[in-house]
Amino acid sequence: MYKITKSNKLKNVCYDIRGPIYDEAKRLEEDGYRLIKLNIGNPAPFGLATPEEISRDIIRNFSEADGYSQSNGLFSARKAVMHECQKKGIKNVDVEDIFIGNGVSELISISMQALLNDGDEILIPAPDYPLWTAAATLSGGKVIHYKCDEDNNWYPNIKDIESKITKTTKGIVVINPNNPTGSLYPVEILSEIVELARKHSLIIFADEIYDKITFGHEHTSIASLCDDLFCITLNGLSKAYRAAGYRSGWMILSGDKSLAKDYIEGITMLSNMRLCANVPGQLGIQTALGGFQSIYELTRKGGRLYEQKKYCYDRLIKIPGVTCTEPKAALYCFPKIDAEMYGILDDSEFIKDLLIETKVLLVQGSGFNMDTPDHFRIIFLAEIEVLKEAFDRIENYLSKRRMHVLKKANS
Ligand code: PLP
Repeated sequence: MYKITKSNKLKNVCYDIRGPIYDEAKRLEEDGYRLIKLNIGNPAPFGLATPEEISRDIIRNFSEADGYSQSNGLFSARKAVMHECQKKGIKNVDVEDIFIGNGVSELISISMQALLNDGDEILIPAPDYPLWTAAATLSGGKVIHYKCDEDNNWYPNIKDIESKITKTTKGIVVINPNNPTGSLYPVEILSEIVELARKHSLIIFADEIYDKITFGHEHTSIASLCDDLFCITLNGLSKAYRAAGYRSGWMILSGDKSLAKDYIEGITMLSNMRLCANVPGQLGIQTALGGFQSIYELTRKGGRLYEQKKYCYDRLIKIPGVTCTEPKAALYCFPKIDAEMYGILDDSEFIKDLLIETKVLLVQGSGFNMDTPDHFRIIFLAEIEVLKEAFDRIENYLSKRRMHVLKKANS
């Protein structure tokens, strides 16, 4: 018998958001259990549908979507993104500097594949949205994680970043607003990152997919602070426009492009090789970016997402041994749990056990490249009633687990 094995390139690649615990959840569902899935930032299953204006415009223009588009995307979509850059203060961006992709995910892969030679270093935050680490690793890059400080609003630790820059560091990834921490970086922090990038000739990769989910706080695009550097900013329809299934995102090349001619040629080559992004999804971009922005209704005080965030945070910090930095943005809380109090040695085991006992699905902190077993991520997309049920079960489970630890210690 011969065996068909996966490529060695996948050896150190990890994407635990849809990993073994997710598989266990699927098995439970197949056995007929109804799970409360608070694991993935996918708005639609929680009744947060794509605005009708977007879906109707796609349907109206659907007959235009039979063929391939230009590989970098439909002109109307790229023009709308260009206007968005003007609003956000990202200067000197032409339609030709914009690439449309099948979600930010595809563009992350393209941007890493086109750049990294084996062993090239790239700075990525820890915790991170793990696709960045996975895509950079798969591209042959050496991922260097920089710390974000929980006791300083999860902001990037500038000293740590600087200490990790070497001659082979090619770029730095900035996820702002942040998944999984919900942190929103102030201009001062962004400016310090820009300063480092300038000093050490780093490309800035800015993943800003949650830029409109900020609950009334202002978001600054890091690219707007550095016209002289080469920046890649990524965004898409999945979150603020609740259209994750449309697989539509964009990548903006800004700043001094003369520095990056060869790299841009590489990006163009990879973009050409996949022919084009899904065209129906592209048809929604112009409508999404223009006019009324319903996300602001959901995220203002009294809005559904605002109240769910508040409920989730309030419940978390009432649990003994759980602390949480209040998220300012995005869709997640990333609390810390006292591992000793609850006897947690391996956070994957903990989240799996919690799933089996409570039928609530969360994601363990190590899935976001945390190196301690004492965090987990919970999404607050579900309605308060559902969150209440989930928290009642989680609390109950944790209190039993704590009793068990105490009993063991006393025996
Ligand atoms: N970037 C971040 C920070 C995310 O959290 C996600 C999805 O959760 C993505 C990118 C993926 O976006 P897309 O659906 O556009 O591929």
